[in-house]
Amino acid sequence: MNDPVNTGDWRDVSASDHVSVLPEVIPPAFRELIEYSKGSDALLRQIMYSPLEERVTDGELCDPLGEARYLVTPWLVHQYQNRVLLLATGRCIGYCRYCFRRSFTSRSEGFITPEEIEFLCDWLARHPDVQEILVSGGDPLSGTYDELVHLLSSIRRARSDILIRLCTRAPVFAPQLFTTALMDFLCSLKPLWLIPHINHPDELGLAQRSCLEQFINRGIPVQSQSVLLSGVNDDAHVLANLFHTLVCIGVKPGYLFQCDMAPGTSHFRLPLDRALSLYKELSSLLSGLSLPVFAVDLPGGGGKFPLSSVTRTARVVVENGQTQLCAEGPDGKVYTYSP
Ligand SMILES: *Cc1c(COP(=O)(O)O)cnc(C)c1O
Repeated sequence: MNDPVNTGDWRDVSASDHVSVLPEVIPPAFRELIEYSKGSDALLRQIMYSPLEERVTDGELCDPLGEARYLVTPWLVHQYQNRVLLLATGRCIGYCRYCFRRSFTSRSEGFITPEEIEFLCDWLARHPDVQEILVSGGDPLSGTYDELVHLLSSIRRARSDILIRLCTRAPVFAPQLFTTALMDFLCSLKPLWLIPHINHPDELGLAQRSCLEQFINRGIPVQSQSVLLSGVNDDAHVLANLFHTLVCIGVKPGYLFQCDMAPGTSHFRLPLDRALSLYKELSSLLSGLSLPVFAVDLPGGGGKFPLSSVTRTARVVVENGQTQLCAEGPDGKVYTYSP
């Protein structure tokens, strides 16, 4: 879609030259969850530095999603025709050790500048076919209140119609940030969806739940995303508990991601056969409503691929000139659909 851009930025560094300097920051609200769960390994493993991060394995890349191909600017990724991804900041509230953008977040680049926001708004105004903007980073909620308000209100001014997807870990790491003033402001920006990153039921303490409920009660839809992580949530019953709990709050589980090939994250990555059988077990435990799409970002810029579709065998066959689907049901038997 876009021509390759040579930006000379973090994406060009080879993974073997990568030095793991992701800061270790444990936000106070997350520390409380750790204490409340009596030192849950699932929480500690996500946030505490491990020497295993120094180990860069074959195939790991500083730009594991291959975003370099789709850059409008180093912080604006236009991969899909009708939606665009904004990296609003390189900073986070806490640093997830499995971060797929760790080559970026370890640089601690600050919030997008007013000049860059002006460029962004001009670009959005010139691209009316872009219907959604994902505001991510880093974590956009790591910016100051004024920075966030300036960015989001500028986007809304430039494009009254565009759907804003606010992608953040703040409901888990810093639920106290969502004050009445911020909630009033976010409500004024509709259409807006909150996309919180949540990996484990222990992340849903009272403060986190009431934060998510605030969004639901104020009519801001919420769709979660999670990462499948070895030693954190690689258990179908733990994930089933997480997704069912989220649905009870009113949150739709959106994506469960296979861990990307970022440098120094191999200890978090499940082998694909284990990941697929775990998802298959998960789908037997949950309703369609509660089950997220299991997806992987294909290295090199192939985009999101739904692995959900490969957990059951299915084939399309042509018989007597008629196209048929032969697909496995949840009982393991093969069923034929031939319209
Ligand atoms: C994930 C992603 C999107 C959003 O894709 P959806 O399938 O709509 O969630 C958009 N742009 C980029 C670059 C992405 O990585």
